[in-house]
Formats: sequence, C-alpha cells, structure tokens
Amino acid sequence: MERENVAHTRQKISYCVLCNKTESSPGTFPFVIGLGRVCIECGMKKVRCDVCGEETKIITSSRFQGRTLCLRDHMKEIEKYRNHLVITFDEEKMGIDEIVNKALHSGPEGYTLLSIRRARNSKTVWEAEYEKTELFEMRCS
Ligand SMILES: [Zn+2]
Ligand SMILES: [Zn+2]
Repeated sequence: MERENVAHTRQKISYCVLCNKTESSPGTFPFVIGLGRVCIECGMKKVRCDVCGEETKIITSSRFQGRTLCLRDHMKEIEKYRNHLVITFDEEKMGIDEIVNKALHSGPEGYTLLSIRRARNSKTVWEAEYEKTELFEMRCS
C-alpha cells in the first residue's frame, strides 16, 4: 500500500509545502519527514530544533508529533521505536520447555519479556516479544 503511494507521488509534480512553488520536474524537491516536499530555497532556511535548541536547515530537519527535530534528535526518536524486540525460536530445533526457558532467561540485556506466542506464518516458530525494561517499568509504575 505505502509503496504504491510513494510510486504514485514520485510521478507527480509536487509543490513546496512552505511557499507553494511547483517543481520543474517530478522528484526535484527533497522530502522532509513529517513536513512534505520543500523547494531548495525553503529547504536551506534555518529552523530551531525543539529538543536541543540548535539551528538546523529545514532540509535536514524533520517534523515529529508537532515538533521540529534536528537530524540527531530525529534519530533518537526513531531509536525509541526500537523499544520492542522480537526473538524467534524454532520448535523443530528445541522443545517448548526449552523455548520458554530461553525466552525467560536469556533474553536481550535491558529488555523485559512481554509475551511468547506462535509466529503467525509458521507452525513451528515461536516469537518472544520484549520491551525495553526502563519503558516497561515506566508503564507499570
Ligand atoms: Zn519553498
Ligand atoms: Zn536537536
């Protein structure tokens, strides 16, 4: 679905979301995450990162949940989405007991086990889902 969307917008002439200028040929304007396509002039303008307060070019910034972020803080936000980890175990290689045991006791460091479930597309693979312990504790306190 999303891929179709991207392909679709690539063929279209887009306009700068800031000054409404249209591009000369499709795909000329760079895409700013959370903002949209911007022309080069607008992209070179400076904005202030809402997290660290440093100035950054619009072109290297992003909008995330209503905030303007510099590239570095954008990466940190992305990192937050990696708070969930899934590790898979194959029942053909080890017994259920062993899987449960492994999932419980040898999970990734700093993560708390949330659940063990059978993978949707397999009859023998199990998935252990983990969440970053600090987040898990925050959610539970
Ligand atoms: Zn513009
Ligand atoms: Zn920043």
